Amino acid sequence: MRFPEGETCEYCGGVIVEKRVTLHRKVKANYILIENVPAGVCVQCGTRYYAANVLKTIEESVRGRQKAEREVLVPVYSM
Ligand SMILES: [Zn+2]
Repeated sequence: MRFPEGETCEYCGGVIVEKRVTLHRKVKANYILIENVPAGVCVQCGTRYYAANVLKTIEESVRGRQKAEREVLVPVYSM
């Protein structure tokens, strides 16, 4: 995915740069992490933009159609 040069944020008009981000999604009772997601990030307000094919891959990951690369245990605290 490439963001065209000079692409600007639709909210604040800031410059969008391409970055790899980690997404958190809650699936039923579990949280999943999706690492190395290519996203366009506004340098001013931090709004993230995702390409359509990236969103589709995220959806498939969330629905468990793709095998997780690895699993990490999340500590849970209770009182
Ligand atoms: Zn912005």
